Formats: sequence, C-alpha cells, structure tokens
Amino acid sequence: MIAKSTGERCQKSIAGRNMRHCDKLADEIARLAVNLDDAKLKVSLEKLDLLGRCPAHTKLDAARVAKWLSQIRGITRSLPRAVAPAGPLSMPTLQSVKEFEQDIYSRSTPSGYDESPLRIVHRSDEPSDDASIHQRVTSKWREPLTKEEQEVERGFLYAYTVKENPEYVKIGYTSREVAIRHIEWQTACDRQVAAAYPLDPKDAVLVSYPRRAEALCHAELEHCRVRVACGPCRAQHEEWFEVSWEVAVHVIQEWTKRIAKNPYGMSTPNFGEGPQEMNRRRPVIEGGDDGQN
Ligand SMILES: [Zn+2]
Ligand SMILES: [Zn+2]
Repeated sequence: MIAKSTGERCQKSIAGRNMRHCDKLADEIARLAVNLDDAKLKVSLEKLDLLGRCPAHTKLDAARVAKWLSQIRGITRSLPRAVAPAGPLSMPTLQSVKEFEQDIYSRSTPSGYDESPLRIVHRSDEPSDDASIHQRVTSKWREPLTKEEQEVERGFLYAYTVKENPEYVKIGYTSREVAIRHIEWQTACDRQVAAAYPLDPKDAVLVSYPRRAEALCHAELEHCRVRVACGPCRAQHEEWFEVSWEVAVHVIQEWTKRIAKNPYGMSTPNFGEGPQEMNRRRPVIEGGDDGQN
C-alpha cells in the first residue's frame, strides 16, 4: 500500500499465511486469466488486493484492480484461448460469479504451515578459531551497556528451529512471554516453531539485561551466523545460526549463568530470588521488545 500523501510504502507487516494465500491466488489467476470473463477476473483481482492488505489499510483499491485488469487484458488479448484446465474449473463459464469467487478463494487457501527451506542469503565470514571467538566474546562482555541495552532490564532468551530446517537455530530475546513471541513468529513467518530453549515456555529463565545476554550469545556464535530469506514473510532474518540446537542451548545457558552474577550492576540486584517470586513477576513484564528480535 502506497500512501497518497507521502508516496511511501506502508511498512506494516502482513501475516505469512496471507502472503502465501496471495501467491497461490495470483498463480490461479495467471493460470485461468485467458479463460475468464471480465467479471470473474475482476472479483479474483479484488480478492487479491484485499488479501495483501495490512489491518490498517483494509479498503479495496478499485483503481489498482482496474489497472491490473487492463494490464492482464493487454497481455491475454493477443493470446490464443487456452484449453480450459482440468478440475472443477474446467468449465468456469458455467459457474456464477459468486460461486467462482468462493471456489478460487478456497482453492488457493494454504493448508498447514509453510515448510519451504529457508534460503541462505549470506553466511558469516567471521573467523572461527578459538582465539578469535574468545576475543569477540571478551570485548562484548567488557563493553559498557548501550542505551538500548540498559532500557530492557529483564527478559528471556529463547531459541527455536522450524520444521524442515533443523540445521538452523534462531536465538533471540523477549521482554514479554516466550510463548507470545513464538505465536508472533508463527504468524509472521507462517512456519511452525519448534522450541529449543526453553523446551516449555513456562520454564523460561528471567535474565537481567537480556539484550546484552542475547548479544553475548550472538558474539560467541557469530562465525555461524546466517542471513536467511523467509518466503512467507518476504523478510530476511538476521538472527539465525547454523548450529545444532544443543549448541545453541548450551551457549544460552552459559550466558544466563554469567549474567545472573549481575556483572553490569543492576540497580536492584535481586537475582537470588526463588522461583515463586519469579513466577509472580513474569506476567507484569511489558514492552521493550520492538518485535525485531
Ligand atoms: Zn498498510
Ligand atoms: Zn519470516
């Protein structure tokens, strides 16, 4: 969606499931376009326009649909009429526009989560020898906390993999509940999250300055970092590592232990608290997660 006032594209994200539905619907339209009358082509394109919209821009753009229609007609006019495809749409002209609309919509609806491979766009070229790793980690450990790192005083580290891609692990943090973050990722990327750490979101361990804790984990695994292109959400994700989940869990647990010793001088250093106290506090932690981690 391009805003008329600024000419800038809307930055709101669209659920991965909707993006996949758009792709499948666009494929169907391309396949059938030659055989469709203008009324059926128009309702298909209207569906496509509406599906690709964020929750803030839900109004059909009739001008955009009209432009698509004329562009498609410009192409198909010169093509010979195709042999109608097999299947329920083999005689699309016999369906009413309403029936056709429901049919093409439900047929293009994706079922289940996306299982396509994550495409590696870039692999880290950081040195992987022990001395380099040690140096990277030590300098991050000694660095004073940045303003952003200070802003988030408590949170949880988490790691997960996605089905069909067990060789890559995502390591992130959240200042909210891990289960909520899982749901957000699942919705955005339309991929089923397989938790690696914690195995059960209820077992998440509260850490101080989780942003720094995350940065320390990333520093230790920097040489394994990969940037992945994720089909459904169209984004490239930066916080993925080509390691086994056992390694990721080990790294997270080690830094969780060290951070618990309060090296960055928490204003209220009460990390010796018992599990009851932690459980009581967990639900009231709000904000701080910008959705990028
Ligand atoms: Zn929008
Ligand atoms: Zn994604």
